[in-house]
Amino acid sequence: MAILTSSAVDLADLLLGQDADDTVFTDEELIPVRMLNEFTYCPRLAYLEWVQGEFTDNLDTREGTFGHRNVDRPSARPIPAPTEFGDVPPQPAAVPIETSTSNPTATTSITGAEPSPPSIEPATTAASSPLLKTRSLTLSAAREGLVAKLDLLELDGQHVTPVEYKKGAIPDNPFQAWEPERVQLCAQGLILRENGYQCNAGEIFYIESRHRVTVPFDDALVLRTRELIRQLREMGRGGQIPSPLVDSPKCPRCSLVGICLPDETNLLLRDAAATGLDASTRDSRAGSPDEDGSASTNSLPSPVRHLLPARDDALPLYVKEQGAFVGKDADRLVVRHRTATLISVPLIDVSQVSLFGNVQMSSQALREVVDRGISVCHFSYGGWFAAMTTGHVHKNIELRMAQFATAADPVKSLELAKSFIVAKIRNGRTMLRRHATAQQRSGQTDTTSEPEIDLTDETASPRCVDAQKGSGTSAGWPVQAPAANQDVSEAPSDNRLTQKPSEATARELAQLAEWARMAGRATSAETLLGLEGMAAKVYFSGFARLLKGGHAFDFSGRNRRPPRDPINALLSFVYSLLAKELTIAVRSVGFDPLLGFFHKPRYGRPSLALDLAEEFRPLIGDSTVLMLVNNGEISESSFLARAGAVTLTEPGRKAVIAAFERRMEQEITHPIFGYRISYRRVLQVQARLLSRVLLGELASYPGFCTR
Ligand code: SF4
Repeated sequence: MAILTSSAVDLADLLLGQDADDTVFTDEELIPVRMLNEFTYCPRLAYLEWVQGEFTDNLDTREGTFGHRNVDRPSARPIPAPTEFGDVPPQPAAVPIETSTSNPTATTSITGAEPSPPSIEPATTAASSPLLKTRSLTLSAAREGLVAKLDLLELDGQHVTPVEYKKGAIPDNPFQAWEPERVQLCAQGLILRENGYQCNAGEIFYIESRHRVTVPFDDALVLRTRELIRQLREMGRGGQIPSPLVDSPKCPRCSLVGICLPDETNLLLRDAAATGLDASTRDSRAGSPDEDGSASTNSLPSPVRHLLPARDDALPLYVKEQGAFVGKDADRLVVRHRTATLISVPLIDVSQVSLFGNVQMSSQALREVVDRGISVCHFSYGGWFAAMTTGHVHKNIELRMAQFATAADPVKSLELAKSFIVAKIRNGRTMLRRHATAQQRSGQTDTTSEPEIDLTDETASPRCVDAQKGSGTSAGWPVQAPAANQDVSEAPSDNRLTQKPSEATARELAQLAEWARMAGRATSAETLLGLEGMAAKVYFSGFARLLKGGHAFDFSGRNRRPPRDPINALLSFVYSLLAKELTIAVRSVGFDPLLGFFHKPRYGRPSLALDLAEEFRPLIGDSTVLMLVNNGEISESSFLARAGAVTLTEPGRKAVIAAFERRMEQEITHPIFGYRISYRRVLQVQARLLSRVLLGELASYPGFCTR
């Protein structure tokens, strides 16, 4: 039997309420009891939800919501106040709380009315009768500092019993209940006690087992519950996100796994601790060119479980038909042009909406999509990314404060900017090097196949919905696949590419390697900008030799506003699409897209999205252009020249969007984490990792570098 020291006895007394202090918490300081459940399951989960305002559903949480729907309807009949039973303290007013949870063992409430769900009341109830029952009751306790919505409360005289509904079956453990559930229930009991009720036990109704389990509120459970309340409150005050669980079986079932990135974060932290190198240095070892120009491989094993879905199920919807109207019909978005329906897609299948030029959207449709977290991106007719409509601003104010503080710090901003630009130069160099390898392969037997850089995936269909006359179908995959789906890394017919790497290419690779090294050591933003400009010039001169579309596609470097040749028109449009993707990605994490670290703030410019776009320009933007030109997916007739400006025709834009979407959906092997993942998902992961750097969890930003 353990012997308690006097300080431990004091703490135990305090936690058991025998010597409670006088603290009274305000409404704003109350801890939602469901958060205590989350904290017990995983402290990081509670932090992400409670402090950072993150939440997303998965199958477990949706099942929990469905199974829970009956008890989420409040009872019409009020429960008797404890004063009606005798001489007990008055009951404080109930306060509303939000209800949602990512913990798969917890329950969630539904919002909005449901059409009379079938009863899931327990088959048996306590023996004493008649019982008074009330459902979905919100109660708070200012001294305990808690607020809870009780699924069901049963009153038997002065004794009350809270009943929690949990999906799933009774667990096979001595308590027949998981600890987070027992703690959650006990916290409800503490609230009821503070409100003057007698409450010695609660019950958990397991929906799958259709059976109740009694949870006695003994001293051990009360002590544990109060200690966890104290720790949770401390965590909230501390402002430091707890570390991810290590190799935990809880993570695969956690709906926030894609936000938390537990194994990815642990890997980066472990590497930094084990090697004394930060994330950017690890990336450097993994993807930097060796002296001979080849990329070194990462020597550290990657124990990262593939917990993220490789790609989204939902698809982007592009509406380019001028004069089209986007409306809502029940649970579908319907795109019409005059009397014709161009397409009708279930809202659940839409990830984002892009409107080009003169396209209208009804306020009902707009409200519905933003409520569902779907962004609406507005482009000019010519493809300029002009604006984005989203729902309420993300709750993660902590991140935005860190973003603004970092942007105001020139040293920290420069560190981040260097990571973006070093990754950009390396990826550009890798593009050129691999094409040089392909050229060698055409003349020699070479086995250095590097599928990640393949510019087409012969099995890939363009995954997007294109609402346009003659192309829209409700089936969902209306964009035409390219007529020729040739991999441009194969032996090309153009004699510019069938020879061994030229001296010019070798020189460019060496220069780019040097610029990347120098960019990593830049001591000012101006120096970095200069290096980036020199590297871009060298890179684009090599890029020009990769194009094999004939004179129509001659390219002598970047120009814009307006683009003055077809290649620049293509590059401008794909960069605009890329900026759109990253604006959505950074905003979904909680950033302000307009404030970057490399791109200076400018009215309306999504500077942070453009920062992150740097490393992906060669991999996504430029490779899409190569694919379009070299596979013959686009021709001279895809462009219009007017007054020195070159723009894409409507069919030309359609071909570019199809190719861009193929690229975004292409799965690649992540160079650090080792699992396969689509480019669109990579952008989301990089935005998350950047947020971890700004919030101090990771020391430096690991730029995405292919090898
Ligand atoms: S993924 Fe794992 S570590 Fe991250 S919040 Fe969920 S349970 Fe915790």
